[in-house]
Amino acid sequence: MKINSQKIYTHRSYTIKELSDALSVDEKTCFRWIEEGMKTIPGCKKPILIKGRDIKKFLNNRKMKKKIKLNRSQFLCLTCKKASYAKRGSIRVVGKKKLALCRVCNGKMSRII
Ligand SMILES: [Zn+2]
Repeated sequence: MKINSQKIYTHRSYTIKELSDALSVDEKTCFRWIEEGMKTIPGCKKPILIKGRDIKKFLNNRKMKKKIKLNRSQFLCLTCKKASYAKRGSIRVVGKKKLALCRVCNGKMSRII
C-alpha cells in the first residue's frame, strides 16, 4: 500500500475521517498510527484532531524507518536520512531513548532502546 503524504496540507487539522479519506486508508489504520506515536492535538478527543504537519512528519519518519535497517550501534540520522554512527562520546540515554550526534553531519539522532 502506497501512502501519499503530499495529499496532506501542513496547515490544516484533520479528523480521523478526513485523514482516512485524504489518504484512502482505513480509519483503523489511522488509529493504529496514533498508537504508533502520531501526535494528536491535546484536549481534542471528540473528534480527535491531528495537525497536518504532524501527520506528514509521522508518515515520513515511518517510511524512513521501514527502508533503513539499523545495526545495534547505528542510529537513524534525520539530517543525512540514513543510518549513521554516533560521534564518539555523544551518546546519552534519555528515558527510553538513546540520543546521539551524527558522526557525518553532527545532526541529532535518536533510537528507541
Ligand atoms: Zn547525519
